[in-house]
Amino acid sequence: MDDSIEIVEDAFYQVLRDDSRLECLADGFRFTEGPAWWAAMGCLVFSDIPGDTIYRWTPAEGVSPWRRPSRHANGHTTDLEGNLLTCEHGSRTVTRTSPQGQVTTVAAAFQGRKLNSPNDIVVKRDGTIWFTDPPYGIKPDQREQPANYVFRLDPAATEPVAVASDFSRPNGLCFSPDERLLYIADSDTTIHHVRRFTVSADHTLCGGEVFAVIAPGVPDGMRMDAAGRLFVTAGDGVHVFAPDGRMLGRIHTPQTAANCAFGGPDGDTLFITATSSVWSIRLATRGAGLS
Ligand code: MG
Repeated sequence: MDDSIEIVEDAFYQVLRDDSRLECLADGFRFTEGPAWWAAMGCLVFSDIPGDTIYRWTPAEGVSPWRRPSRHANGHTTDLEGNLLTCEHGSRTVTRTSPQGQVTTVAAAFQGRKLNSPNDIVVKRDGTIWFTDPPYGIKPDQREQPANYVFRLDPAATEPVAVASDFSRPNGLCFSPDERLLYIADSDTTIHHVRRFTVSADHTLCGGEVFAVIAPGVPDGMRMDAAGRLFVTAGDGVHVFAPDGRMLGRIHTPQTAANCAFGGPDGDTLFITATSSVWSIRLATRGAGLS
């Protein structure tokens, strides 16, 4: 067993292959974030936020810059049409990039005011886009929004709808495999937990109880596997929880992990962005849904 893997409950073995091994794909970045498997392009993308670059990675070609400047891109996901969605701190927008390279702004303002700095993003199978808007990418005097919202953007809409306004630092988010539950991280250093909401038929959120408190560090990006296990980044790597909230185990990274994403040709590789580096580990499970 790779010594980066910590078993907390025996059920964690169901997530692991005999050959599961944490491998460094690349190092030397300033702060990596926003991993997403872009299936239409057959590559992983990830951001170096202060480095103002989006990189791509394939097993055959390794890492190369894909967009520079990136307007300080952060989180990514893909939509139902195979486009890449990007949260941009610099432009304070969410953009969509087609496989042909055409870039469109999909969200830039709420109630006539600029967004803070969109951070992370998921797409539901009905095409709605859900993203968080904490103020990490702006200075206090640049702020126009009265809260740090979680937003939903409906397919034909030009402006998002606020679905949660009681977060301090809303950050990573992911749906359960059946999309009835939405998990959202609050990265405030005094809060550092993940909340779980029920998604109503009209696309509002109810509930919002604390699902897991994350330490050391804070929860940032997260993804869910097809069995409903939550993979959430923390100060010491990726923490894995059963659907009922039991901690199953951890995948430790040498540096603080900020985000993770399933991908690869079989959807069974977990990619982890961790400060200056990017890692992969092949698992005995697959990512849920699109992201
Ligand atoms: Mg984030």
